[in-house]
This record gives sequence, C-alpha cells and structure tokens, in this order.
Amino acid sequence: MKKDKAIVVFSGGQDSTTCLFWAMQRFEEVIAVTFDYNQRHKQEIECAQNITKELGIKHHILDMGLLNQLAPNALTRNDIEVKAGENGDLPSTFVSGRNLLFLSFAGVLASQVGAKHIVTGVCETDFSGYPDCRDIFIKSLNVTLNLSMDEQFVIHTPLMWLNKAETWKLADELNAFDFVREKTLTCYNGIVADGCGECPACKLRKRGLEEYLEEKYQA
Ligand SMILES: [Zn+2]
Repeated sequence: MKKDKAIVVFSGGQDSTTCLFWAMQRFEEVIAVTFDYNQRHKQEIECAQNITKELGIKHHILDMGLLNQLAPNALTRNDIEVKAGENGDLPSTFVSGRNLLFLSFAGVLASQVGAKHIVTGVCETDFSGYPDCRDIFIKSLNVTLNLSMDEQFVIHTPLMWLNKAETWKLADELNAFDFVREKTLTCYNGIVADGCGECPACKLRKRGLEEYLEEKYQA
C-alpha cells in the first residue's frame, strides 16, 4: 500500500488530523480535501490550511456552500445556538446527508487524481445520531462509489470503533500527540488547541484527553 495514493477528508480537527497522520504512515502520497460550507468559523479552513502547509501535504478546498442553502442549522448559521440532542433527537449541528455528500465528492476527486484510497474520520463509537457515520453506511457507499465510477476504491475509517481516549492514543502511537493537541481545531467557538473548554466539542475532546492521559501515566 505504501506506493498508493490516498485522499483524506480533512477538517483541521482532532479526528481528521489523526487520520492524516495515519494515512501519511501508510501511503506514498496523501492529498487532503476540505469542504468549505460557510462554517461558523473561517478559522476552521485556516487551521486546516496551516496544518497541511506544515506537513507538506497537497490540499484541495472544495466549495460546498450549497449545504448552507439546504440545511440552515447551528454549524452553518450564526443565529442558531449549538446544543446537544435531547431525548434521542439529532443535535442541532446536524446537516442531513453531509458525509454522504462529502465522501461522494471525495470519491470524484480520488477518481480524477488516480487515488485508490479514501480516508475519513467518521466514528460509530460516540454515536451522536449521524446515520451517515455508521459503518454499514460507509460499506454501502464504498460499493456505490465503485459501481458509479467503475473504480476499486477502498474507504478507510481508522477511528470507526475508537472512543475519544483511544483516538488520542492513536495520535500518540503515530508520534502526533503534541501536534494534534496544539494545532487542531475542534471547538465550536473557533479556538485552536484546547479550545474554549465550554462548548460540547471541547468537553468531549477534554474528557477523552484526560481519560487517555490518566491511563497512560498510571500504566
Ligand atoms: Zn469550545
């Protein structure tokens, strides 16, 4: 696989940056693709650019502004508050079919640049109600993409069965722990590294980090 080319769906966050390092270890050439859909914070795009520049990774930024038209919600509109889902409802950050669209466009790009591998940081473990983060969906889409373009793509999901602590562990194993901790953006308030500490994304990231560090230094 080392001589193969891979596309990594990349947001500049903890998960996809860990996937980027995972891919760099496995593939000859890694290309990052970021989707610009008028994210709440332009810092997300900037952060993603800074990371790929520092790692010397080729980076495509695709305009997906149409998502803003399709699904006005907390991620795409500033006037809606971010809150976790209640009573089994989807969180207010949900954009229906977002991963379906992103991965399909990543597939088209992969076909154009001759990449066989597509890497995404989706995860079923901390399942937050996104149906297109499920393993069964990814497997189904893999078949569909291959049929639609007559390709032999392999979609990789290195984080699919990891919890947040295990994702930190993976970053550490890839010698990327400090990089991921200091340079990635997960925070809904657009603050790099440890973030604002208050929003749901920061809390989730922090809890996983503490759990991992506790386990690491007890062992
Ligand atoms: Zn935050």
